[in-house]
Amino acid sequence: MAEYRIGDTLDLGSCSACGNVIVIEPDNGLFRPQGCGNPVRLADGSWLCGSCLRKLRVKYPQEYRMDPKGKKMQPYERAADLTADKAKQELDQVHDYLEDLREKYGFHQAVFSVENVDVKKGGFLKPSFFKVTGHVIYGTFTPLDEVSIGMNSGQKVKISCLDNPHSSVPVSDTTIQRGTNKLLIDWAWVEGGEEAAFIFQEKSLNLKPGDLIVRD
Ligand SMILES: [Zn+2]
Repeated sequence: MAEYRIGDTLDLGSCSACGNVIVIEPDNGLFRPQGCGNPVRLADGSWLCGSCLRKLRVKYPQEYRMDPKGKKMQPYERAADLTADKAKQELDQVHDYLEDLREKYGFHQAVFSVENVDVKKGGFLKPSFFKVTGHVIYGTFTPLDEVSIGMNSGQKVKISCLDNPHSSVPVSDTTIQRGTNKLLIDWAWVEGGEEAAFIFQEKSLNLKPGDLIVRD
């Protein structure tokens, strides 16, 4: 009988907020520190599980910071700056915080705040590539979602794919082929508090930093 092997696992103890045991497979290629909402180490050295981290992200959005070698922008979880006590306190209140956000943004299903827009010509008679980076305020976005620009039913566009907001590779048809490949789980969806890039292919897109993209 064939032997099914799983990678070595590492037991990090219990989540300091919810008490769930945190076990990771460090060698698993799908394990991305921080990026997918994996466990993070808190300011006092205790661990916060990925599920608790994702809940806190709407209030403590993810950022990208330059790695110590100055070579690459890496995701940084601001929730990791909390102590276990503070994280527990915040988790108790985060549901109300999210409800207030939903009310503030007119109860749209998901809201994204635009911080940067890059346009690249697609070639003769082809639509341009728009790489729109920013933060998900709340809710989730997935590739092929139809979204609208602004709170009041502006231009409707389809997200071609999601991308690494700090990728140095110029957007092309290959980005979209890779981005819609179901095996690439990194950008299968983005959710509240994550920094992300949406790729759109449009003839024109009237969008500037500070605008909102919403999904209903
Ligand atoms: Zn937890």
